[in-house]
Amino acid sequence: MKPNAVKLSQQLIQIPSYSGVNHQVLEFLGSKLSALGFACDFMEFEGENSYAVNNLHAVFNPKNSEKVLYFAGHTDVVNEGDKASWTHDPFAAKIVDGKLFGRGAADMKCAIACFVSAAEEFLEKNPNPDFGIGFLITNDEEADGVNGTAKVLDWMQKSGKKITHCLVGEPTNPSKFGEMIKIGRRGSIGFKVKITGRQGHVAYPQNAINPITILINLLKILKDHKLDAGTKFFDPSNLEITSITSQNLGGNVIPNTAEAAFNVRFNDSHSSQSIIDLVKYACEKTVGGIGFVGATYELTHRTSGESFLSDPKFLAPIVVDAVKKITGQTPEMSTTGGTSDARFIKNYAEVVEIGLVNQTAHQIDEFSEVSEIEQLQKTYLEILRGF
Ligand SMILES: [Zn+2]
Repeated sequence: MKPNAVKLSQQLIQIPSYSGVNHQVLEFLGSKLSALGFACDFMEFEGENSYAVNNLHAVFNPKNSEKVLYFAGHTDVVNEGDKASWTHDPFAAKIVDGKLFGRGAADMKCAIACFVSAAEEFLEKNPNPDFGIGFLITNDEEADGVNGTAKVLDWMQKSGKKITHCLVGEPTNPSKFGEMIKIGRRGSIGFKVKITGRQGHVAYPQNAINPITILINLLKILKDHKLDAGTKFFDPSNLEITSITSQNLGGNVIPNTAEAAFNVRFNDSHSSQSIIDLVKYACEKTVGGIGFVGATYELTHRTSGESFLSDPKFLAPIVVDAVKKITGQTPEMSTTGGTSDARFIKNYAEVVEIGLVNQTAHQIDEFSEVSEIEQLQKTYLEILRGF
């Protein structure tokens, strides 16, 4: 019988596995991979102000080849929310009208099942391949992401495990399988700025310093500044204001402080540091400028990820050809969307993300089309053949 990714997807969905430690889901996967001849390592990492996480590393490399293609993914799922709002139990993995429903169906248990099944089918015909095949599966991508993929990669390097190319099975398509693969991501940094002026009577503004006026000037400068025009694989960088607050002391009172938050999604022509420098410069120029002497500002920031591009030289063309062969469609090589563990992997290997449709990821009634799960399994098999 042909390996069946749909059945395996259902089995994975039926094990609820929230971020952190879940032995059942990884032992289940590990037993599947061991049966195919993979050498499995289970590892638990903890610390760095985060909870413990278990991870699975598995590799099949009979010729000890220098070239090793990994599949990276996560078994953890986000909370299902209000169970009663689901049309089908989120952990029953029911198939209705050609759709497989369940938490993790799109993000991303089906993709794991597809790669396991593709590897099984590939190894049946090629039991002694000229390259290694590996799995890096973490049970924490959705939450902190501290004791997951990054730590396994570090462990791999220290124990001499080779990784040259990597597929990440995150759902990459907006509405239909075959539309989009990802070869990089924008960086993301969030800022908060607080302006302190001097409180006073609106009728006597000369005795006060209005922090709202300063804040509006600052935000206008930041918003008007064109960060760049986009690069070869990236859209233009963008700054979005997400909140503006003040003390709201009443119609006749100039408040003492005003705060704003904004987020910058930036492409590969910037780093988080260059964005921070720019924002600081704008703060320096605005606060304490003409008429505002005496005002001060506090700026805090948090970088969630640097931008990166994984040079699409070897693996990406193979992935594009495989998608074309299975779907008849040429996928876009994109760098849009939120972050993923590819941001860690790109430091070790050429990485390409290709998975199912992300439309219902994290939603109530998350699902994947059974026909698309089958297409993804075939596409992964094509990639293994082309590698
Ligand atoms: Zn995911």
